[in-house]
Amino acid sequence: MVQTDILAFGAHPDDIELGCGGTLIAHQMIGHSIVMVDLTYGEMGSRGNKEIRIEEATAASKIIGAKSRMNMGFSDAFFTIDEKHIRELVRVIRHYKPRVVLCNAVNDRHPDHGRASSLVSQACYYAGLDKIKSQWVGSYQATWRPHAVYHYVQFYDIKPDILFDISKVIDKKMEAIRAHTSQFYNPHSKEPQTLISQPAFLDNIMARASYYGQYIGAAYAEGFTTERTPGINNFFHLL
Ligand SMILES: [Zn+2]
Repeated sequence: MVQTDILAFGAHPDDIELGCGGTLIAHQMIGHSIVMVDLTYGEMGSRGNKEIRIEEATAASKIIGAKSRMNMGFSDAFFTIDEKHIRELVRVIRHYKPRVVLCNAVNDRHPDHGRASSLVSQACYYAGLDKIKSQWVGSYQATWRPHAVYHYVQFYDIKPDILFDISKVIDKKMEAIRAHTSQFYNPHSKEPQTLISQPAFLDNIMARASYYGQYIGAAYAEGFTTERTPGINNFFHLL
């Protein structure tokens, strides 16, 4: 069964864990299927290399409980929003048929994040157009448009439209982040220091989750912006 509940995209192999790892773990624990898609191998990052990052991403996806994780192999730092990239993503969206898509912040310190956000969002729309033809292992694909696209907040302080309670899974989220050993604080590493390899970076991830949590009476939360106004039919379903 290919149909997937949540398809999570990230420009780089640790984006998903940092931005929405807790939300994915929480959904996985109640039986929803998750597939993770990295657009690049993060090969332009100061630390690690393609091979190391594939290993780390695989380990992290197991902690999250994803059904699978794939990499689009787009060029880190240089992928563009064009027909070729949109068509490649349309194929993946039509293949996994997600109800919900999670992707990068709409605008962020790393320029790839905003570009990836827009690219994924556009592909979700175009995947629903019948005149855009695509194939998967030789067979034409049916159209598919996800019900909703949510953008996780990353470095920039974007005001979220939705806060997701991750109190019960914060430890597992941090474990999935730390699976990216080459990227984060490691006193024995000989690689160059980066913003995210400072010990304070992981503390700040916790601090933001705690800050978001207070708005919904939870210990920790992750924040998302949405393109589509969320609808409910029962006010008591909100936290
Ligand atoms: Zn990134």
